[in-house]
Amino acid sequence: MTDCLFCRIVAGEVPATAVHQTGTTLAFRDVTPQAPTHVLVIPKEHFATAAELAHAAPQTMVQLWQVLSVVAEAEGLADGYRVVFNTGHDGGQTVPHVHAHLLGGRRMTWPPG
Ligand code: AMP
Repeated sequence: MTDCLFCRIVAGEVPATAVHQTGTTLAFRDVTPQAPTHVLVIPKEHFATAAELAHAAPQTMVQLWQVLSVVAEAEGLADGYRVVFNTGHDGGQTVPHVHAHLLGGRRMTWPPG
């Protein structure tokens, strides 16, 4: 059994609230939402970071971005949204399975903390 939390969500071993899935991607609600809409979009296959995914499976990265727009529309984020890939220690990544944070439903501030 893998000890990767998001691989375990993909496998159905850890519960999550899925909002969309394709053959290669899964979108589910963040358990600690930072905005009215906070959805994580991940590849089902394990890659640690966005950079790793982009180099190893660029087509999956494209699909992930397509899913982000589909979920944003389904969530009614017509006024805009933010996509964040925290990457590595200094980037604030706590789960080492690449995930895009889709944040919306309120006005985002800049710069981030
Ligand atoms: P990051 O800090 O960028 O690695 O983001 C990891 C995200 O995963 C955080 O926003 C957490 O709230 C979220 N998270 C952790 N465990 C779960 C879980 N079981 N289901 C959904 N989201 C989770």
